[in-house]
Amino acid sequence: AYWPSSGDLQVEKLSARYSPDGPKVLQDVSFHAKPGERVGIVGRTGSGKSTLTLALLRCIFTEGTVIYDGIDTKNINLDALRLNITIIPQVPELLSGSLRHNLDVFGQYGDVTLNDALRAAGLFSLQKLSDENRLTLDTEIASGGGNLSVGQRQIIALARAIVRQSKLLILDEATSAIDYETDAIIQSSLRTELKSDVTVITVAHRLQTIMDYDKIMVLDAGCLVEYDAPKAL
Ligand code: ATP
Ligand code: MG
Repeated sequence: AYWPSSGDLQVEKLSARYSPDGPKVLQDVSFHAKPGERVGIVGRTGSGKSTLTLALLRCIFTEGTVIYDGIDTKNINLDALRLNITIIPQVPELLSGSLRHNLDVFGQYGDVTLNDALRAAGLFSLQKLSDENRLTLDTEIASGGGNLSVGQRQIIALARAIVRQSKLLILDEATSAIDYETDAIIQSSLRTELKSDVTVITVAHRLQTIMDYDKIMVLDAGCLVEYDAPKAL
């Protein structure tokens, strides 16, 4: 059977630090997200939202358990884990090379698939056909993605997740770096363009963004203080 077959995510007592003897900036976070659920994460600046997204992929020092589609991620090699869970950071870094290369590092997909993913992610709603600086699959990306706006980078990262058919997508919304329209396009793509079994976790800066989500998680000083349907909060 293929793994992962769903985006089921069971997190138990997850703690994280940025250096082996540094402070725990995330403490004993436990929650369960079912396949296809949408989870919004809120909390003040510095409360540990981005840290949690990194801890889920074991990009920093972690303790505790993350079970993804029934398998303890301690038993999955990091490359496989990171191929199967997509995280779209607050400021995504892109690879130097073409936009096509960024969507499809191993050259596995045709242009139709890649353009469909860009459309689904919302890139073409963002740019008019007449725009001379319109991005295409052949656009060259500077190292890190410096020649693109943060919003464009997030949309490209979302398109990559759609190409890979990731079952778990974690979006760390950009705050001031992104305009309202781009953010709205990304949110609408997440609602309409993903398969129904894809689990979505969004770090949100506007409560409005996630009012229709299944669960809202509130973090405070690295601890999970609420995890419930928005109505219940
Ligand atoms: P924001 O809403 O501003 O994005 P956040 O909730 O995402 O905030 P985090 O970035 O997770 O907050 O930060 C949580 C804590 O971890 C903070 O105390 C922060 O100083 C610390 N921290 C974040 N990144 C690092 C790092 N690279 N090295 C050391 N400490 C860090
Ligand atoms: Mg953050």
